[in-house]
Amino acid sequence: MIVDCHGHYTTAPRELEDHRQKQIAGLKDPKLSPGKANLNISDDQIRDSLESAQLKLQRERGTDITIFSPRASGMGHHIGDAQTSEHWSEACNELIHRVCMLYPQNFVGVCQLPQSPGVRPQNCIPELERCVKEYGFIGCNLNPDPSGGHWSEPPLTDRWWYPLYEKMVELDVPAMVHVSMACNPCFHTTGSHYINGDTTAFMQFLTSDLFKDFPTLKFIIPHGGGAVPYHWGRYRGIAQDMKRPPLKELLLNNVYFDTCVYHQPGIDLLLKVIPADNILFASEMVGAVRGIDPQTGHYYDDTKRYIDANTSLGAGDKQKIFEGNARKVFSRFKGR
Ligand SMILES: [Zn+2]
Repeated sequence: MIVDCHGHYTTAPRELEDHRQKQIAGLKDPKLSPGKANLNISDDQIRDSLESAQLKLQRERGTDITIFSPRASGMGHHIGDAQTSEHWSEACNELIHRVCMLYPQNFVGVCQLPQSPGVRPQNCIPELERCVKEYGFIGCNLNPDPSGGHWSEPPLTDRWWYPLYEKMVELDVPAMVHVSMACNPCFHTTGSHYINGDTTAFMQFLTSDLFKDFPTLKFIIPHGGGAVPYHWGRYRGIAQDMKRPPLKELLLNNVYFDTCVYHQPGIDLLLKVIPADNILFASEMVGAVRGIDPQTGHYYDDTKRYIDANTSLGAGDKQKIFEGNARKVFSRFKGR
């Protein structure tokens, strides 16, 4: 079985985006606000939105199930206030739940959290709990920078975040560290802000004792871990200079990387540097890069091909990457 641990509902019916635009308009003029539960999307619309996209690609690429969450760039935590984020997260998560109900063999849910800049993360606990207990979701996406590129929150290792971590541990769900849209023009959302977010989170973890306080807390750093595998020697050296334990001991019981890296040499490097026990298969389709690589004739984000073509790992390690590690990290995952 092949589990893609990182997919977003980027092809949701346009009513969802219309709803969001009304919500944003309502921030200036409350008369325009769409209210809380006024999203008219039919089951057929949901089916259509997936049949020609994610489901088609699952079949073509030979993957089985996608751990599925709302569109990450659309989370837009910097827009409005905590209530704005709450209503928007509820709408997005409910739609993911409907997808998972319609296609329980193909999708399992992960939630968006109603984060808002400057608001304590415990405000996310009710929505996390609702999604896990009522919807059967198995994880959450945690934005380390709800300001959208200005990095105004304390680092992920600060006690600021601890109440949410306590709930994650209690519910036994991991978080994928995932920023949203950049509203700082210095950053391109998927090209630099995402990769910065990944790299920054890893460095925050490296300098802290977070995992002494939370030995069972688990994070997935997506997009292949940002710059981390490529600069693994730098991070090992920094840890050593700081008299920190070796990275394996310090972080690798709690921190995992996905395989959203869109070329063969990148995947080969990831698989060589990071232990196979810490890598989860993912493609982030349909997402950041949608085209076909003229050098290979295949979609950039068809990441299964790169893992299949890798010659350094054996079948046992690849099985861990495709399935075993997802079952370990997402311990609520019970797919087939
Ligand atoms: Zn993503």
